Amino acid sequence: MNITQPSENALFTVFGLLEPTPPKKPRGEPLKTFKLDSLHVFEYRQVLSCKCACSRSEPILLAPQDFKKITRLNQLYACPLCIQEFRDAKTTKEKLEVWLRQNKPEIESKRHLYLPKHTKILFDTSSGTTIRTKRAVYQAFFEAPLAPDHFVLSKCNDEFCINPYHLMVARSPAGKITPEMKHDVILWSSTLGWSVLQIQNQIKLKYGRSVSKRSISSIRRSWQPSNAMKMS
Ligand SMILES: [Zn+2]
Ligand SMILES: [Zn+2]
Repeated sequence: MNITQPSENALFTVFGLLEPTPPKKPRGEPLKTFKLDSLHVFEYRQVLSCKCACSRSEPILLAPQDFKKITRLNQLYACPLCIQEFRDAKTTKEKLEVWLRQNKPEIESKRHLYLPKHTKILFDTSSGTTIRTKRAVYQAFFEAPLAPDHFVLSKCNDEFCINPYHLMVARSPAGKITPEMKHDVILWSSTLGWSVLQIQNQIKLKYGRSVSKRSISSIRRSWQPSNAMKMS
């Protein structure tokens, strides 16, 4: 990929500067550094150099006297490429994918990573489908489309954490049913009267696993309403 933007253009797109002062080249060591949303700003005596966290664009150079005039034209300060991607992302899923791509170089494996609002399942309005958040994160971050029988599991055991480095892929053996799932199958059949298909879908949503209709039916058969009644 070869993405560079003319600096004057970036000064308008990113900072809303219509008539920017021509910036000088950075010299020596920066006096200080700070963060402006996605931008790492290196402040030199005569110029500010703003490097996007995504590491995909050239640093944007800004004259110090122009820093007072900058305006937040977009949702956040970032390089023009990141800004464009954010504009194009419509659904939560797309926004999350864009964010992961942009922050990839800064995501550390040592810490948990959380969404501002915990969401287990994402609804993709463009395709009308749902996807588990961790699955979407794994696919977007590692750019690895997963087969339907591949499941994304958490390695860190923090159910809220979406750090891609804390996720792993496992192939779920067909028909592997845990005691919790068994309990749910019985509960949903007996108290809610759900069909095998409804149960199958709910298991997929709750546990991220595909269980065959045959397995669900056999659990239902093994459950004896008469036994339950005898207990009362
Ligand atoms: Zn960027
Ligand atoms: Zn974690």
